[in-house]
Amino acid sequence: MLRIRSLVSGGIITNYKCSSKCRHCSYSSSPKWPDDYMTPSMADEICSVLKSLGCYSVHIGGGEPLLKPDKILGVLDTAKKYNIDIEYIETNASWYKDEASAKAVLKELQSHGVNTLLISIDPFHNEYIPFWKVKALIRTCSVVKMNVFPWLMEFWDDIDAMDDKSPHSLDEYTRLFGQDYPVNLLNRYGLNLKGRAFKTYRPVLRKQPYEQILEESRPCKLLSGVYHFHVDLYGNFIPQSCPGFSVPLKELVNGADPGKYSIFNSLETAGVKGLVELAKKEYGYIPKNEYAGKCDLCYDIRNHLVLGLGLDLPDLKPQGHYRYV
Ligand code: SF4
Repeated sequence: MLRIRSLVSGGIITNYKCSSKCRHCSYSSSPKWPDDYMTPSMADEICSVLKSLGCYSVHIGGGEPLLKPDKILGVLDTAKKYNIDIEYIETNASWYKDEASAKAVLKELQSHGVNTLLISIDPFHNEYIPFWKVKALIRTCSVVKMNVFPWLMEFWDDIDAMDDKSPHSLDEYTRLFGQDYPVNLLNRYGLNLKGRAFKTYRPVLRKQPYEQILEESRPCKLLSGVYHFHVDLYGNFIPQSCPGFSVPLKELVNGADPGKYSIFNSLETAGVKGLVELAKKEYGYIPKNEYAGKCDLCYDIRNHLVLGLGLDLPDLKPQGHYRYV
């Protein structure tokens, strides 16, 4: 059985829809996603399970959770009911219009138990969001005494070197800071190369022969990230570093059927080699000669199943992860 026995700290993804389509987004969020938010009853189901597994704090992420602040208040209230602390809400500041309206949002969040905003500060977000909004939101947080968790200050000076009235493309950063700028972001940001981030950086990754990837294959241990897991608005457990998979959290508590979630199970127990065997046998997958590592092979198979064959598989959801990359 696929089972989780304890969870320490993680995130609740209230929505995948976002105002931006950042190139480093491992969740492949974008404006194209449906306008779905976590319902209060789903929040209740999730918080009850989290509490039973020993998890007493979560952060709220997306997508952009504050696209429609009213839609997440029910989730905040439910967390409070279960004595689950909200560590912070992640936001990209795109919703900032003026101080008065931002103050109203921040005060509403405070009255629902939120004391900290994680505010995105990086060149990827700056392709969509002018820096003045980020600065103004930080200022407004200070006025209402909302804590700010800046992610990441490392990039402040780079972004501030540009005109803060408009967004700036990575090409502009490259012209200002040099050809290596986008590649250097890999380590400076500590990117998780999944979803759209993988698509962005795949061309610069070293290629490996298919056979070598299989020889080096190890179980991916998707269920082991107890400190930075996510649960999404559909109630699915999202492994620590691998979005695009879905097993309902409530099933994982009592043991989910490995036969029902065979894709997930193959990776959990045997790694990408297990997935290849399954995909060749069940879905007619034909491997290529080389890939940019095991995750490239994994995504190639998952894309083949979801986009190529159009299959509606229980463990490869939400499909938007593949469609809107
Ligand atoms: S091979 Fe697949 S499941 Fe394993 S780490 Fe890479 S993307 Fe995640």
